[in-house]
Amino acid sequence: MFPKYELDRSQGFYKKNLETMPPLKRTKHLGEKLKKIIRYAYKNSRAFRNKMDSAGANPADIETIQDLGRLPVTPKSHLIELQKENPPFGGFEGVPLAKLRRIFVSPGPIQEPGEADYKDLGWAQALYAAGFRSGDIVVNTFSYHMVPFALNMLDNSLFQIGCITIPTGVGNTEQQVHILRTLKVTAFCGTPSFLLNLAEKAEEMGLDLKTDLSLHVGFVAAEMLPESLRSQLEEKFGMVIRQSYGTADIGCLGYECSEKNGFHIPDDKIVEIVDPRTGKTLDPGKAGEVVGTTFNKVYPLIRFGTGDLSLLTSDPCPCGRTSPRLVKILGRVDQATKVRGLFIHPGQVKEVIGRYPQIEKYRLVVTRQDQKDEMTLQLELKKESSSLESFNSQVEKSIRDVLKVRGNVELVPPGTIPEGSKIIEDQRTWG
Ligand SMILES: [Zn+2]
Repeated sequence: MFPKYELDRSQGFYKKNLETMPPLKRTKHLGEKLKKIIRYAYKNSRAFRNKMDSAGANPADIETIQDLGRLPVTPKSHLIELQKENPPFGGFEGVPLAKLRRIFVSPGPIQEPGEADYKDLGWAQALYAAGFRSGDIVVNTFSYHMVPFALNMLDNSLFQIGCITIPTGVGNTEQQVHILRTLKVTAFCGTPSFLLNLAEKAEEMGLDLKTDLSLHVGFVAAEMLPESLRSQLEEKFGMVIRQSYGTADIGCLGYECSEKNGFHIPDDKIVEIVDPRTGKTLDPGKAGEVVGTTFNKVYPLIRFGTGDLSLLTSDPCPCGRTSPRLVKILGRVDQATKVRGLFIHPGQVKEVIGRYPQIEKYRLVVTRQDQKDEMTLQLELKKESSSLESFNSQVEKSIRDVLKVRGNVELVPPGTIPEGSKIIEDQRTWG
């Protein structure tokens, strides 16, 4: 019933002509695509037209990708603001609302349009480079609810390359182990920490991860992947794990190939590294904000500022792909922090605190234990207030409601939280 795939998954390309294009030819090719999307977006996206007009820029000014620097960067925070003023998409959509299939809602809160006909290329390139092949049976363990990643982006991209998807979503660990075993699942999509959960559960159930399961490849995203965790998981399952990088707004912005030496830029995006203060494009090797431009007509984000800090290299890659690579994601440009795959903004923490007048001082400490993110909200209470027994669990519920990530509450004696400490204190180390 289930064919056994004996193939070299490290070889080959999803779109060979694009992925191996000589760099100068690529620059020209992307310039042509950019010209078209700028003209399209100016005509069809109100928000983009307003941005260009107020920057005194005209579509005719954009001839090559070097001209992109003339356009303003749109940071995610600005997108959130404009969406609040003008829901659902702040006027950034490039098609009438009636043409959409779905509206996604991500933490922020921020909305993303879901197109009727998914055409983005980036995630499919990423999956192929990770070793996914036609005929693979895949568990997609990212959340299918509300957010666009699992349902719109990955599910469609898996279909594009010919994989068969089991839309398991998050959780139900024991049932997922049964699924891995009985359906002889060959490929995993999800966070590294969830794959670790599956490994632990399967071992607890007495299974041998290499002989009882058939996982060959794993595609992980939305969380940091320390090399120690990668090799631990690869060794346990006897599988290859590759990671990708992108956002819910703009999609894939980078993917690892078999060489694991950075994130290749997919062929449906332009990725720049930009000085976050000036908006100027930086040369390869210099760290700055990752700014992406997509050719997606439904949601034509032009110079979208991810807030992530990285640097580019154009050194050749032994895999044969000629696109530049993001060397690694260094962290967030602003104070926002990613915890278990979700961005946590200081404003959300303030929102939780605002519900409890008895709180004097606070900080959210993010740590990493056993390869998992942990979040602890430290609180100092006002002198006159006495805390009820249920106080901690009430605040923990508010954390879950507002931040969408589970966190613990710790009451600490007055004077514990240093003066002037950050709202979010990221104490994680990645080794
Ligand atoms: Zn490569």
